[in-house]
Amino acid sequence: MTKATPTTRRCGACKVVKPLTDYAADRSRPLGKMYVCKPCDKARAAARQDLRLTPAQLEARFRRLAKQHARLMVLSRLSIEANPEGVPTHGE
Ligand SMILES: [Zn+2]
Repeated sequence: MTKATPTTRRCGACKVVKPLTDYAADRSRPLGKMYVCKPCDKARAAARQDLRLTPAQLEARFRRLAKQHARLMVLSRLSIEANPEGVPTHGE
């Protein structure tokens, strides 16, 4: 058994084993290739384009998520403060 440089890779998106030539170059990856094949990468780029979100829209979405997160944080903090022992309350 020889440890040859792999010439194929399983695509992280479509899970199909394809030759490395089907993967776009990415120097930040160990094999110097993207972890998704070219067709999948193109499809994902197209999907991103389809979203057609402007930076302002993206920011609005992020703010909405941040707000939800902040609300959850406040809620969990309130419940801890109201019930520091973690004992279930039974109303009055
Ligand atoms: Zn693929």
